[in-house]
Amino acid sequence: MFDELLRELKRLSETQRVSVPLHSDAEGYLDRECPAQECQFDFKVFEEDWRDKVRNEEVFCPFCGHTAPSDQWHTQEQVAAAKEVAVDQLQGRINTAMKRDADQWNRRQHPDAFMRITMKVDSRPQHVFLPNMAAEPMRLKITCPACACRYAVIGAAFFCPACGHNAADLMFTQSISGIRNALDALPGVRAAIPDRDVAETTVRLIIENGLQNAITAFQRYAEVLYATRYPSLPAPRRNVFQNLSEGSSLWHAASGKQYSDYVTTAELNALTRYFQQRHLLAHREGLVDADYITRSGDTSYREGQRLVVRDASVRECLSLIEKLASSIAS
Ligand SMILES: [Zn+2]
Ligand SMILES: [Zn+2]
Repeated sequence: MFDELLRELKRLSETQRVSVPLHSDAEGYLDRECPAQECQFDFKVFEEDWRDKVRNEEVFCPFCGHTAPSDQWHTQEQVAAAKEVAVDQLQGRINTAMKRDADQWNRRQHPDAFMRITMKVDSRPQHVFLPNMAAEPMRLKITCPACACRYAVIGAAFFCPACGHNAADLMFTQSISGIRNALDALPGVRAAIPDRDVAETTVRLIIENGLQNAITAFQRYAEVLYATRYPSLPAPRRNVFQNLSEGSSLWHAASGKQYSDYVTTAELNALTRYFQQRHLLAHREGLVDADYITRSGDTSYREGQRLVVRDASVRECLSLIEKLASSIAS
């Protein structure tokens, strides 16, 4: 009575392949997601470049640099949609088989029999979901300077998905603008937190982190620049570019130019102060010590006082760092 169904079930017990088309967004970018559990970064790759530039064996996560073969980058939405399509297709095949069984059964019933038993299979119309439309286009679009692969991200990206190229200058400009954006958001942060103590602490942390991150961004950028420009010179001591005068001497030895060739004395003094303040924030919880006063020349503080960093100071530091970095680079 259920011959067709049994046959279909047997066929289905072998591995089934269901292919589901992926849709790119309005701008031709395909949604992708990093398969690393801790990351799951969402990004997009221009569909044509995903096909032509990205290699099957290895794709790089733009955010964390994790690598995996190209068939592992589906977003959770794409996987869920594909499952739905697959289940619907299988259901359709089972329904068809059961309908055939029922028809055969019904045909065998004698029309004049005293009692007729008929079988009716309820096969509602199949609904096949197409994968959800692609997510909204992303604002930050990047073209890899090394392989020209086009990709898009929200927030920051450090690696090209196709070739893994780490664009140090891109990373630097993104870090700097990220800090500026965080400072711009401060009025909103203040307004959004009803508890005034919490609001002020949050604002202070954002400002102080901004100063520290600005200097870290400069340090990383200088490290990469130095290493790519002077690959034959011995690798400098770790964190040397966190120290303004040591970093300057290093460039001077290699290139004949030092920081004072790029910025004015007043600017260099301000930078020296900010670099020393970073040190206090990172290692002394912002408490001023005698070393700070000597090294920074900042006599507005006494030993034991707590540093006060203002939004405007971080902005000045960002501009000076940009000026210095772009002069070194060019
Ligand atoms: Zn990742
Ligand atoms: Zn690339």
